[in-house]
Amino acid sequence: MVGKKPAGCLLCMKHQSPREKDRENYVIHRGKACYVLLNLFPYSNGHLMIAPYRHVSSIELLDGDSLYEMIALTKASVAALKRALSPDGFNLGMNIGQAAGAGIADHLHMHVVPRWQGDTNFMSVLADTRLIPEALNDTYDKLLQVFTTDS
Ligand SMILES: [Zn+2]
Repeated sequence: MVGKKPAGCLLCMKHQSPREKDRENYVIHRGKACYVLLNLFPYSNGHLMIAPYRHVSSIELLDGDSLYEMIALTKASVAALKRALSPDGFNLGMNIGQAAGAGIADHLHMHVVPRWQGDTNFMSVLADTRLIPEALNDTYDKLLQVFTTDS
C-alpha cells in the first residue's frame, strides 16, 4: 500500500527484538500485553509511547485487558516522567489514522509528551545542536531507574 514502510512495522520489531536490545531500542518496560518505549523522534525530551504487542490499527480492536494495561502504563509513564524530569505538564493522546497525523498509522500507540513552560521551540533547538542521541540515552537511563508499575 502507498505510504507503508517496506521494512515492516517499527512497533512490532522493537518488542519482537531480544530483551538484550531493549536499550538500543529504547524499550523502557515490557508488560503483559503492552510495552513502553521512548519515541526516537520526540516532540519533547522524555516523549514516551505505549503500544500493544498486537498489531492493531485502532482502539476498538483491543480487548479490555490490553486497554486497561495501556492506560495503567500511561499512568506509570506520567509518574516516572514526573520523578525523572519534573515537567510542568503533559499531553496524552493517540492519533488514529494517517489523516489524524499518526506516524505509524497501522499500529496503535499512546503518546505521553511531557511539557515545560516555554518549551515550544525545544525541537528546533535540538535539531540545530544535534544533541538528540545523547539526550535520548540520558533520558532512557533516568527513566529506567524510576519506572515502576507500582502505584
Ligand atoms: Zn505493528
